[in-house]
Amino acid sequence: MTTIQLYDATLRDGMGGGGLSLTADEKVRVVHQLDALGVDLIEAGFPSSNPKEQQLFELLSRERLDHAEVVAFGMTRRRGVTAAQDDGLRVLVGSFAPVCTLVGKSSVVHVERVVRVTREENLAMIAESIAFLVAQGKRAILDAEHFFDGWRGDPGYAIDCVRAAADAGAERVVLCDTNGGSLPHEIAQATAAVGIALPGVALGIHCHDDTDCAVANTLAAVGAGATQVQGTINGIGERTGNANLLSIIANLQLKLGHRVVTDHQLARLTETGHFVDELLNRAPNPFQPYVGKHAFAHKAGLHAAGVRTDASTFEQIDPALVGNRRDLLVSELAGRATVSEKARDLGLEVDAAHVIERVKELEHQGYSFETADGSFELLLRKEAGAYEPLFRLESWRCIVEQRADGKVETEATIKIFVDGERYVRTAEGNGPVNALDRALRDALTEIHPHLADLELVNFKVRILDETKGTGAITRVLLDTSDGAGQVWGSIGLNENVIAASWQALVDSLERAMQPAPAGT
Ligand SMILES: [Zn+2]
Repeated sequence: MTTIQLYDATLRDGMGGGGLSLTADEKVRVVHQLDALGVDLIEAGFPSSNPKEQQLFELLSRERLDHAEVVAFGMTRRRGVTAAQDDGLRVLVGSFAPVCTLVGKSSVVHVERVVRVTREENLAMIAESIAFLVAQGKRAILDAEHFFDGWRGDPGYAIDCVRAAADAGAERVVLCDTNGGSLPHEIAQATAAVGIALPGVALGIHCHDDTDCAVANTLAAVGAGATQVQGTINGIGERTGNANLLSIIANLQLKLGHRVVTDHQLARLTETGHFVDELLNRAPNPFQPYVGKHAFAHKAGLHAAGVRTDASTFEQIDPALVGNRRDLLVSELAGRATVSEKARDLGLEVDAAHVIERVKELEHQGYSFETADGSFELLLRKEAGAYEPLFRLESWRCIVEQRADGKVETEATIKIFVDGERYVRTAEGNGPVNALDRALRDALTEIHPHLADLELVNFKVRILDETKGTGAITRVLLDTSDGAGQVWGSIGLNENVIAASWQALVDSLERAMQPAPAGT
């Protein structure tokens, strides 16, 4: 069977979705998740569209990945300049990424009305840009933008664009349903026709979900000969989103018999989906196929009884294959093996079954450990009896005052004991968390100077409405950087947002004090 290449566009195209944003550090964490999932190519963005992207490429150039390769994304040269003179292409050449994807026009309407160049000039823009990158030692991919719209208007020209890229040395041409308006039968017809017109040219497919068919369209293209699938985790992206790479992977592997990832990697599908949602501070969609919390839920009595007798009667697949479970809590999915593995990495010995019980309890209250790896590590240490609190709390207090001129001032006071000695510290800050952090660290850095290097890089608050019981619970997720490339997450939960923040803050500092794990 043909090998299908997995191409993730979460960090570039996926970020086009409304209200979505990740810091450079968070993107690095996503890259490692994608690598562990078995994704072949990871599109990181344009290496210098803004300081954040520049920082991302700088960080990524130092990361070691097991399998995946990083792709830099740019455009074909502008009109009226040579490829070598084009600033954008020069940035791509200067990037460490071994693969570059260029977006180029393949629809006559766009060429003539939007870019306003002749058909010939557009073909030259494609060919020269690809040839330039290849001559500079890059592997080049063309994303043929608006391909299917172009195909409907002038199929001959759309094919000319693909041919121009292939002849110039592109290793692959990706047919893009940029407007997302196509249906599976159209995608299949067009892809098959390109395959016949240009035998030997490796094709890819990039779909958007405007007709609710992005995954189906992607599979249709694979059926018609495409050998690279592009998508984003959970289908995030502009408008209604991109094709959901998680569903594509599951369908290719479990329904169509393509071996795109290992079984072990396939079992990471659910965790990966939740991980990205948590970083984006989105509640994971419980109804998402394969990875959603309800994807294998059985509410009706008859179903539940059927499942108990023979699961295959009411389940399309065994949920464990994709790392999901029958309507259970999220981290429970991680399972015993993962818990044992994480504990081993930290040089700890724990009773995995007991840890899972504990996590289950906490998740029931509203905790979530997908991105709160720092808090999870502390939990493991507590379970292993290898935990020492950083201090003993007497009290903390926080005063927020708004003046008549609109200015808001925050002051925090903490009273703690460290090694039997009492510390009382007060600090001001731009908000409660900042003020508490300053006061706490003011005391602690006297004994632990390296805590001064820590930086709170992210602070996310979500009101959990799904919890049972009385008041709404506030959940705070905090990301902390040690200033040397390590980032960890911590979590706090309380009816009071400041108390939840305090808890996450303390976890974050305590995590910073833990010995480095043995090995790598
Ligand atoms: Zn797109």
